[in-house]
Amino acid sequence: MSAVLQVRNLSRAFGGIRAVDGVSFEAGGDGITGLIGPNGAGKTTMFNLITGTTRASAGEVVFRGERIERLSAPAIARQGLGRTFQMTHVFPGLSVLDNLYRAALFRQLPSPWSLVRPATVRQGRRQALAQAEQALAMIGMESLASDDAGALAYGQQKILGVGMALTTQPSMLLMDEPAAGLNAVETDAMSALIERVHHGAGVSIVLVEHDMNMVMRLCSHLVVLVNGRLLASGPAATVRDNPQVIDAYLGADLENA
Ligand code: ATP
Repeated sequence: MSAVLQVRNLSRAFGGIRAVDGVSFEAGGDGITGLIGPNGAGKTTMFNLITGTTRASAGEVVFRGERIERLSAPAIARQGLGRTFQMTHVFPGLSVLDNLYRAALFRQLPSPWSLVRPATVRQGRRQALAQAEQALAMIGMESLASDDAGALAYGQQKILGVGMALTTQPSMLLMDEPAAGLNAVETDAMSALIERVHHGAGVSIVLVEHDMNMVMRLCSHLVVLVNGRLLASGPAATVRDNPQVIDAYLGADLENA
């Protein structure tokens, strides 16, 4: 696996809680990486550290060969590192296509010059619309393009959230619990979308998810965190069968995975 993302000795404490404690792992290249572990293990904090919304107290993050741990969140997003969130964050009252368009427009982050050059503004809008339409096709919601995003079922809102992240055309997407709150049919649709985004569009993916059936369907590699520390990492089947991982996290879930 050629690593797109390298996390080296990354740490962050909140008061006395070591949310992430000297963790190293690699992700990207062929195959999806699952970042798993019990509640409070530090998975979301890890995503916050990688995407620059929380500052690391020690360690390095290397993305496509560049150190990024000191960059701002918008600068990291511009480098091609995208993210989806546990909760939906669509704009109700706007259409599905408008949600995608606004996400594309918002993330273009224009230079001061573009604000005084109407031609540049027009070009930016055209580009945002093209990116929105491309994302709409990727998430398979063409027939819902003019529907109110706030009226969509929860699972569809989460799929739209993935589309919004795709409008930045990321080379890597960090996905925080895409199946949380979804029923079995919606989870299947989300899994199929994640496979399309990875295998079809070539986007590297790191997946935080508690649904072990989904994790084992999608992930070729697993990284396990427990209490902020790395417990195990490697090929998915090897990590799943690791007795320490079974003891600390998987337990009975394993039988179903
Ligand atoms: P879950 O699976 O429940 O989402 P997680 O693995 O994502 O959990 P985190 O949300 O990263 O875990 O939390 C790791 C630890 O850090 C927890 O003990 C949490 O309470 C603590 N923590 C996270 N963010 C903060 C913060 N901003 N301030 C204080 N403590 C925090």
